[in-house]
Amino acid sequence: MTATAHPLPAFTTTQVGSWPRSDALLAALREKRHGRLAAADFNRFADEEIRRCVRHQIDAGLDLVVDGELRRDNFYSFLTDKVEGTRLMSLAEMLDTVEDKAAFEEMLTTLDAPAYAIRNPTCVGRLRRREPLVVDDLRFLRTLTDLPVKVTLPGPYLLTRAMWVTAHTRTAYEDKTAMAADVVALLREELVELAAEGVACVQFDEPVLTEVALSTNQNKRTFMCATLATRSDPASELAYAVELFNRVVEGFGDLRIGLHVCRGNWSRREDVLITGDYVPLVPAFAAMRATQFVLEYATPRAGELAVAGRALHHAELGLGCVNPRTETAEDPGDIVARAEEALTWWRPAQIFLNPDCGFGCFSSRCVNDEQTAAAKLRAITAAARTLRERHG
Ligand SMILES: [Zn+2]
Repeated sequence: MTATAHPLPAFTTTQVGSWPRSDALLAALREKRHGRLAAADFNRFADEEIRRCVRHQIDAGLDLVVDGELRRDNFYSFLTDKVEGTRLMSLAEMLDTVEDKAAFEEMLTTLDAPAYAIRNPTCVGRLRRREPLVVDDLRFLRTLTDLPVKVTLPGPYLLTRAMWVTAHTRTAYEDKTAMAADVVALLREELVELAAEGVACVQFDEPVLTEVALSTNQNKRTFMCATLATRSDPASELAYAVELFNRVVEGFGDLRIGLHVCRGNWSRREDVLITGDYVPLVPAFAAMRATQFVLEYATPRAGELAVAGRALHHAELGLGCVNPRTETAEDPGDIVARAEEALTWWRPAQIFLNPDCGFGCFSSRCVNDEQTAAAKLRAITAAARTLRERHG
């Protein structure tokens, strides 16, 4: 199966990944986590939630659909259900291994991200895929629609940063490099199966890259995963992220593989979210063998489109054109204008239209509700219709 086996229209409309979780789903996730709801019962319930999510996308007229990540606790910690050698730890629990607890808790408060709300998939043993990470989700999604589908996976750098917590991981792996080799292996195993299933797009999420490249100049550490893990200077970390990404995708040239990077979307408070354009990141992006870069551009915090345009016009652009965190849908005319600006560097067939990020960043605190999310998708598809009329 090749990327070209999925002919997609110019200005393909899609989502980044997560969909708002209903109160009932949040309750079910909580019950499952506490062992009070069997996996099979949870899945039957989640099936219905995913059906509704897919219906919203089809009704809005999206070209490339996702399952909304509704079975996941969050976009990466769900791995603990699928991978041996991992354990979900609350940050409150992990605080035991932090030296300056008071400073750390103050940081979480500053970032509007309480410790109890965050859970990290910590490596506590040898990593091995117990079951596919997302292949079963893909199969279910395909029973709901004949449209091309996209699946999302946490990126290898994010996983390596997040899962390595020295106090807990040292017993299983000598160092982070050794653990990273197994992270790469399990993502590659997944890609083999996803390719065989005919997925139209696999998107790796690497939100922590912005923290690496941008947060130092604000003197802020992010809540995001890996907060507790050690890291070296930004240049080395970015080089390591490039290396890991390329090791994962090596040999999958026929598969459309996206890279999504954002600046944190856990809060509606703009002042706590990371600001900065892609200047420090584009050299790393350009070295990554990704088919597509799925980037925030609805938020002014992301800066000028020209930055990505000059460096990444060889690849597809997933143009973030609506803000998942605001209460009203964008004007399709504004989306059209932004996409037409992108035409300076990219051809129509290279431009995908999507929100800046997922709609349900945290399990316990969705950034928006379903009706607003659906209205934003309709704004995107309305813009795409105009763009296709004008630019074929
Ligand atoms: Zn994101």
